[in-house]
Amino acid sequence: MDVAIIGGSVAGLQAALTLGRACRRVVLFDDGRARNRMASHVHNFLGVEDLAPGELLAAGRKQLAAYGVEVRDVRVEDVIADDDGYVVDGERVRAVVLATGLRDELPDVPGLAERWGQDVVACPHCHGWEVRDHPLVQLGWRGAPDRSVARALLLSRWSDQVILCTDGDELTDAQELRLAAAGVKFRTERVTEVGVGVEVRLVGGEVLGARRVFVVVRQRQQSDLAERLGCQLADGAIVADGGGRTTVPGVYAVGTAAAPALLAVAAAGHAATTAVAVHNDLLELDLGGGW
Ligand SMILES: Cc1cc2nc3c(=O)[nH]c(=O)nc-3n(C[C@H](O)[C@H](O)[C@H](O)COP(=O)(O)OP(=O)(O)OC[C@H]3O[C@@H](n4cnc5c(N)ncnc54)[C@H](O)[C@@H]3O)c2cc1C
Repeated sequence: MDVAIIGGSVAGLQAALTLGRACRRVVLFDDGRARNRMASHVHNFLGVEDLAPGELLAAGRKQLAAYGVEVRDVRVEDVIADDDGYVVDGERVRAVVLATGLRDELPDVPGLAERWGQDVVACPHCHGWEVRDHPLVQLGWRGAPDRSVARALLLSRWSDQVILCTDGDELTDAQELRLAAAGVKFRTERVTEVGVGVEVRLVGGEVLGARRVFVVVRQRQQSDLAERLGCQLADGAIVADGGGRTTVPGVYAVGTAAAPALLAVAAAGHAATTAVAVHNDLLELDLGGGW
């Protein structure tokens, strides 16, 4: 095999498509935890309307069959490096593409986890249009008021009925002025629960009604394979150059694992660009060169 791709969400599947179409022998591993799997639809993806995340990935997998890409539904526990390349799940390959994505950590507020991806979301570029001009709550991350304010300001372009709940953080005069300039109201009480409706319950019992709650999240690598392979990480992302090359020769990183803020379509685009670089690097190896 030429390449093992670890991760079969949008980035991994796109990398597999581009490499498969370049006549490379590719094996892709995935354990089914695409980051947006709990969302009802994928938005802001050219050519895609009304598709659930699982449907988009299923269509991608179907497309791969024509190019001989082997797909294995397993979690990769380890990647072994030796002088000839890498061994992944018993398969010897020349290069490894990490498309292992991120997982989101939600604010510590009851009711968020069970509504995540439906009534509770993070990204207005993904889920803002559907609730534009409706009452919206931006729930901040306690202890990071700058970030909370920035997210509320962003959301204010989709609706003029945005309330920022800082969940206990006080704001500076400058922050309050910026919110006022954007028409965003704010509450600084602790949030005790996000419930059906969607209702945001504040300490003391007051309830704010919202069409949707946007939250500030923290992201972590979904897999520790990059770290264990010795790849450099910075700010939680795998460090990679413009061709997706990590600091370890023969190991590449694509999609949100390397660039956390990417929309799904951009994660796929990043993967296509990287796959072209992988193909070119393998060509050099084919001709007797090195990494
Ligand atoms: C709730 C929610 C809704 C979203 N909605 C949108 C939207 O509408 N539009 C949009 O553009 N973006 C949306 N996003 C962002 C979108 O999810 C990401 O841009 C996209 O999923 C990134 O894809 P990826 O391939 O980089 O990684 P991921 O989707 O995170 O996929 C990583 C894959 O790697 C696999 N994996 C990890 N480790 C291993 C291992 N060791 N072995 C095997 N497999 C492994 C996982 O199972 C997973 O399938 C949303 C995000 C969230 C959280």
